[in-house]
Amino acid sequence: MSAPQCPICGKPSDPATRPFCSKRCADVDLQRWLSGRYAIPAVEDQEGPPDAPEED
Ligand SMILES: [Zn+2]
Repeated sequence: MSAPQCPICGKPSDPATRPFCSKRCADVDLQRWLSGRYAIPAVEDQEGPPDAPEED
């Protein structure tokens, strides 16, 4: 069985932090996962306010 590679950087994974090579890469993956899951609340502000203050 060949050593699995870190999905983030491609280095050989560490048993302590697998499938990642280090906690750093595990954190990177976690951040990606969280940002995808929560879709960043700030986006709501950019969809346009309910009653847009239009200035003629
Ligand atoms: Zn890595």
